[in-house]
Amino acid sequence: MGALNEEPRRLGGGQSRCPYCGLLQDRVATLEHEWVLLEPDMRPLAHTVPAEHRWIELSDGRVTVYGVCPPDQFQRCRIEHGLACPAQPLPDLWPWLTSLRGENARRVERQNDPKPPPPPEQWPHAG
Ligand SMILES: [Zn+2]
Repeated sequence: MGALNEEPRRLGGGQSRCPYCGLLQDRVATLEHEWVLLEPDMRPLAHTVPAEHRWIELSDGRVTVYGVCPPDQFQRCRIEHGLACPAQPLPDLWPWLTSLRGENARRVERQNDPKPPPPPEQWPHAG
């Protein structure tokens, strides 16, 4: 009865439903003869997407990870539906930031000595 169980009439255009959220995603062939599931109608600028997640479309319709570094300013790319899927955890998009957060968490732990009591309030005498 749910939308998830309803067989789509036609999966034309290489679309399939995400098994996690039920939204449509584009099923596109990659240069490596595999398939990748891309977010439909979404073409952000490549430099706004982490490098390993930039898929660009080739003239034959296949896609490949955009390896140009630094990315062309105006290059658009596509992203995997998995990054936009509300029902899947977000992968580690910025690993260096994740390790920096880990480092900072350890710094916070080291600093977590009991803090000295705040100085007594010394407001200028009002009135
Ligand atoms: Zn999904």
